[in-house]
Amino acid sequence: MATPEAPRALPEVRLRDLQLTVSPVELVARVVMFERREVTRRSDGSRRPLVSGLLSDGTASVRFTWWDPPREGIERGVVLRAVGAEVREFRGRPEVTFTWRTRVGPASPAELPRVDGEDIPFRSVKDLVAPSEGFRLEVRVVRVAPRPVTVGEERRIVYEGLVADRTGAIALSSWSDFGLASGEAVRLAGAYVRSFRGRAQLVLDDRASVLRIEGTDLPDPAELLRSAPVPIARVEDNGGGEAVAVEGLVVGLLPPSGLVYRCPTCQRSVKNGLCRIHGQVEGQPDLRARIVLDDGTGALTVNAGRPDTERLGGLTLEEARRRLREQPDPSWIEAEILERLLGSRLRVRGSGTRDDFGVTITPESIERVEVDLEATAEELAVRLGEDRR
Ligand SMILES: [Zn+2]
Repeated sequence: MATPEAPRALPEVRLRDLQLTVSPVELVARVVMFERREVTRRSDGSRRPLVSGLLSDGTASVRFTWWDPPREGIERGVVLRAVGAEVREFRGRPEVTFTWRTRVGPASPAELPRVDGEDIPFRSVKDLVAPSEGFRLEVRVVRVAPRPVTVGEERRIVYEGLVADRTGAIALSSWSDFGLASGEAVRLAGAYVRSFRGRAQLVLDDRASVLRIEGTDLPDPAELLRSAPVPIARVEDNGGGEAVAVEGLVVGLLPPSGLVYRCPTCQRSVKNGLCRIHGQVEGQPDLRARIVLDDGTGALTVNAGRPDTERLGGLTLEEARRRLREQPDPSWIEAEILERLLGSRLRVRGSGTRDDFGVTITPESIERVEVDLEATAEELAVRLGEDRR
């Protein structure tokens, strides 16, 4: 990539101030994500390479397209200066295009526009969708803990947890040590939101700033973790969420439930002695239950691990293995857990993610709620009836 020459007199703009009427422009921004593609020219059928993706300068994120990009030098996180970028409209929003007339070269993060904290709008947690940045946020740290991770060859510590305001909670992932502690209230600037395994996640890196505040309007973490259950339909509409609480009746179990075998290395379930990642392995027996919970507004799946399955299903793994000697077909285990659980009312808290099959909750707690048996039987009959229709 060539370093841009002395700039012509172009307006250097912040991405938040991009206007369709002012073009070309000069800008400095970071590549948040990108992909390389080729399009076929209609005229002669030849292939033309392009890179498209998302740029951000801390004030906003915009889509970009780079025609005939260089083979090297484009990486996630790299800061670029583009002189002579065209501003176009894409689905009602400005986006930038680098053409043969645009000079694009590397820049230093120090050249990113200075973002005055007072300038950046405040957002609520419920309005954070991925990808986004260029906002300030006041939140309570509900919990945070360091976790070692390997990034390429490098060992790093990421601080993971959960933050919340009155409107909701979001997973936190901080790549810098801001000394965050559970319970404190903070004002964040320079953070961004990305989608990770289907969940929105608030990411802090060394560009972010953290200011301790009093946070008198922010929820108390204990209160947040004990919040009242919400309708399952709302959890579905939200695509899951953090610190979700729901309550409903058990209407079934999904496979695989009961006795499963797990890879000793990655804990994935093993099929016919094969782990999807590690190949032929000696599967370790485990108990689990994928519980279908219905509250009349909707249904979701709760992935119960061994301790919850043993407690709720009334059967320990040890006992199951002992009885397998007399009843070698393990299908009785799932049947027995289902019989014990069907029609029970459970209150479940945890984090939820949504995929094509609906919402799945990874529980932090599952409690059985005592109920009026007759009313429950009736309610259950109605639900099951609806399912068969
Ligand atoms: Zn494995």
